[in-house]
Amino acid sequence: MTSHVLSVEGKMLLNPFKHALTLAFYSLFVLSACAPKLIIKESEPVKLFKEANACYYRGEYKEAENWYRESLKAKADPEVLANLACLYKDGGRFSEAAACYAASLELKKDSFRTLNLALCLFQDGKYAETSAVAEQLIYPEAGQEKFIKFYALVLSGCCAQASGKTKAAEIFFSSALELEPLSAVIKQKLAEAYAASGDAARALSLYKDALRLDSSLYRINLKIAGIQEQQGKFREAYSSLSRLSLSEPGYPGVSSGLKKLAERIPDADRKSEEAVQESGRKSKKCPEVKPLAGRDKNPVIRVLLVSGVDSLRIKCGSPVNFTLFGRKAGTAFPEQEIRVTLSGGSFSVKDGAGKELIKERFKGHDPLLFENPGGVSTFTIYDVTLNKGYFWSKNEDRSYRGALEVSLGENGLSLVNLLPLDEYLYSVVPSEIRASSDREALLAQAVVARSYAYSKLGLKTHPSADLCADVDCQAYNGVESEFPGTTEAVEATKGELLLSGGKAVTAFFFSNCGGHTRNVEDVWGSDPLKVFKGKSDFPPGADGGLYEDWPLTPELLDRWIKSEPHAYCVKDAHFRWFRVIDKSANEIKVVKRDIFGYIKEVRIGEKKFTGERVRSAFSGLRSNLVKFEGSFVYGAGFGHGVGMCQDGAAGMAKKGFSYKDILNHYFTDSEVKAVY
Ligand SMILES: [Zn+2]
Repeated sequence: MTSHVLSVEGKMLLNPFKHALTLAFYSLFVLSACAPKLIIKESEPVKLFKEANACYYRGEYKEAENWYRESLKAKADPEVLANLACLYKDGGRFSEAAACYAASLELKKDSFRTLNLALCLFQDGKYAETSAVAEQLIYPEAGQEKFIKFYALVLSGCCAQASGKTKAAEIFFSSALELEPLSAVIKQKLAEAYAASGDAARALSLYKDALRLDSSLYRINLKIAGIQEQQGKFREAYSSLSRLSLSEPGYPGVSSGLKKLAERIPDADRKSEEAVQESGRKSKKCPEVKPLAGRDKNPVIRVLLVSGVDSLRIKCGSPVNFTLFGRKAGTAFPEQEIRVTLSGGSFSVKDGAGKELIKERFKGHDPLLFENPGGVSTFTIYDVTLNKGYFWSKNEDRSYRGALEVSLGENGLSLVNLLPLDEYLYSVVPSEIRASSDREALLAQAVVARSYAYSKLGLKTHPSADLCADVDCQAYNGVESEFPGTTEAVEATKGELLLSGGKAVTAFFFSNCGGHTRNVEDVWGSDPLKVFKGKSDFPPGADGGLYEDWPLTPELLDRWIKSEPHAYCVKDAHFRWFRVIDKSANEIKVVKRDIFGYIKEVRIGEKKFTGERVRSAFSGLRSNLVKFEGSFVYGAGFGHGVGMCQDGAAGMAKKGFSYKDILNHYFTDSEVKAVY
């Protein structure tokens, strides 16, 4: 099937190698004629090569280019040529990059370099040549790695799409999907191809699939809403757009789209939907839980659940005592709704029937407290928006152990949950790590989460709370996320903290490091700390030792990010990821990388972003370990990169390491000790 398409396209091409090679020598000649003279004492090619690589990480690209070319004067080395090519490619100079890759390939065959040649030709708009080069990789010789064929198919598909050949695009993307059945981006590309050929139904189902696989592609909701609107499904289109607006409120066209759609949804429909939701809430009881043994002796933690709202709706499974400014102010019945509303500096508390129980002005201290003694019942809070502004944000009813405190915050009411630290961990540990992971990984997560929270006690990093419930601190989703295996892990590590220099470590962790964690100073600009030193997340000797010497050469870093090297965290969709974006991305310039290849500073047009702001500058960017190459984005890992890689911890546990081994691996010179 595929071969037919390829042979048709193959006829049209020039010889891309010859063409590119001529260019290579031409550009090398021209460039050396106008390059500034360098004073070099020793013209050892290896030394020059090393100098060039160091410049690359500091963002001194012009200097790097000069060093590479000096090295090439001494010896035409295919590796140096490939690194120079990589430098050009990263700088968006695709035709020069293609020429250098071709020159390197003349000296030595290498399928990764062939793939990059095809990529550069594609980004340079030379679709026929791209297809011809990619074709060599689609019917590979033995031993070629899978990722090379995959990206060759993607390139061919994108070429076909760019040339308006939707049928061919469908075939290439389908073949790519056979190699990587869980690739959300390829599902999206295939959906685009179907949409272009008028098959809206198939396009819709693939778009939905892509979104299910990868919620960071939330902008697909716009395409989904478009098709639903065309099909007259206004209600569905409305909720698709609402999801997009929750993740990225300011996305162009969303609020106007919502307004337009709302006018087309009959009032009666909306009312009946709300009625269904309300009756569901009435019939669903607040869950009962088993309290922590000895909960009175556990440290109490304050977690900010909601802030900046003007009303709250709460209920509880048992009678609720209200305390107002330190004195008892009333009681509510079990399962009775309590509404707190703010107007001006005053608030009122009403029962479900609308009867006003309290009306008061907020004063400085001891605000409104709701308690349910015993710790068996829970509070349910309606419409909690968690992780607002993140692509995984959600609006849900959630239930929590402990007591609740309502106070007047900066932008409205704040709701804080007060509970024993280990009961908080019951919910945090499974929210942060797959509860099905091996036990030692769960134990490691329990210790890390406890240390993190413990180190924040009393610091008031959030107004009136120690922590918030979002991933900014630790994901705290309430009792519904609790799981027997993780509860057991919290109990089995009772009171255990990760200590460094005798103090509780603010033990950072994140989903997936892509194979190497980062130094803390490169992420938050804080002082370097041994406990947060970047670590290889693979055993010594993996991949024949190819990735042992950091910083890697620019080409090896490129290969590291695009391929699937061995690592403890390899078995996860976030280990390596890929995006196709629109061409405006050409304005993206990487200014600096740290020695592990993570971006430290990036420029988009005139704007500069550093550290963690790099990720937020691009909605949906999972990590800073990224390559931007024209319309393609290649990434590795998920999260900030400091401390424990959670997928890596799971991988290590599977290989038989204990939780103390795991913690020792990620946190240099730390110890685990029970303190309560
Ligand atoms: Zn890892």
